[in-house]
Amino acid sequence: MKQKFLQFMYGRYGTDALSKFLTCAGFVVLIVSMLLPGIAKTLTVLLAVLLIVFTYYRTFSKKLEKRRAENGKYLALRRRFTDAWKLRRDMWKQRKTYKFFKCPSCRAVLRVPKGKGRLRVVCKKCGAAFEKRT
Ligand SMILES: [Zn+2]
Repeated sequence: MKQKFLQFMYGRYGTDALSKFLTCAGFVVLIVSMLLPGIAKTLTVLLAVLLIVFTYYRTFSKKLEKRRAENGKYLALRRRFTDAWKLRRDMWKQRKTYKFFKCPSCRAVLRVPKGKGRLRVVCKKCGAAFEKRT
């Protein structure tokens, strides 16, 4: 039995971070659907089934490159969210000792010590210089 399954899975994609996320999302949508009435319930159950079916489709797919590209896009998107969240968290933690600015030319977030009066800030990323009160 195990041998047959392994034979079936040979050359197929399997699971990755995106399929784990889709499975979790499917179950969350399914739980939410239980709380909804009428047509909203039907539509959310349908969405949950689609998410789970899509996860199985990806797992058993033989188009490995396409599945890897999808997972790569998902990971890049997830990284953008976690990086933005970490930046917000660090800005909050350091709010008493540092002042944060956005560079006017490249929009990078810059950090300068607080309470130093008027400073000439030079962006490390693009080299643009501007004055700011700290
Ligand atoms: Zn800049």
